[in-house]
Amino acid sequence: MTAIPVPESTPPLRGLFGGTFDPVHLGHLALARSVRDAFGLQVVDFIPCHRPVHRDRPGAGPEQRVRMLELALADEPGFRINRVEIDRDRPSWAVETLRLLREEDSHSIFCWLMGADAWAGFPRWREPEKILEMTHVIVCARPGVARSPTPFDAHFLQPGESLRDAPSGRVAWHEMPPNDCSSTRVREQLVAGLPAADCLPPAVLEFIRQQGLYRRRPINPSTA
Ligand code: ATP
Repeated sequence: MTAIPVPESTPPLRGLFGGTFDPVHLGHLALARSVRDAFGLQVVDFIPCHRPVHRDRPGAGPEQRVRMLELALADEPGFRINRVEIDRDRPSWAVETLRLLREEDSHSIFCWLMGADAWAGFPRWREPEKILEMTHVIVCARPGVARSPTPFDAHFLQPGESLRDAPSGRVAWHEMPPNDCSSTRVREQLVAGLPAADCLPPAVLEFIRQQGLYRRRPINPSTA
């Protein structure tokens, strides 16, 4: 992995990108690249959850979602997979993940990456205040999602401020080029027998085909 060099005295900005990645798609990659380049993140950890807490069971298993990430992130400078949530067979709460990551990295400035839809739900995450004590948040614009007010808007960076001005607790809004890929859309396209190639790295699409993922579930004759 190639890391972007930073002077030794400056704490590196470490991106933490949690998600279900069911499957990882080009919108995820565009978000991580755009934030890495705009904010000078040294690394971005993709953190696939084991069991999502705010949504249904994923269509692919934990190790299948990790494998798709490995295929998607190959050769991406500064991108890596972090198994902190996958290796714990329990619901994945960001606040716990951050505590675990802080135990093994006291040096970096953490930046949690998310889309505008996730930010809208942030007040319902477990211990959101604690989360902001441990990390900055970078919120990326997402097509079809308005920037709605939350009780945490006082944390937004003011003009002239930077994420380097504080160790945690700041929120940055990032206008990345609009990308309308979503895992839901990819899954719906695959169920409908459509190629979904516009939103998937070719190696991920090939893996989905090989594994027979995201096919229409057989109708249960007793309920049909
Ligand atoms: P689903 O459609 O199943 O809800 P998703 O495409 O949102 O999935 P997730 O793995 O749930 O994918 O998302 C991880 C994070 O990436 C979330 O914070 C989400 O807001 C963000 N994200 C995903 N796709 C985009 C996109 N196209 N633009 C901006 N943010 C995105």
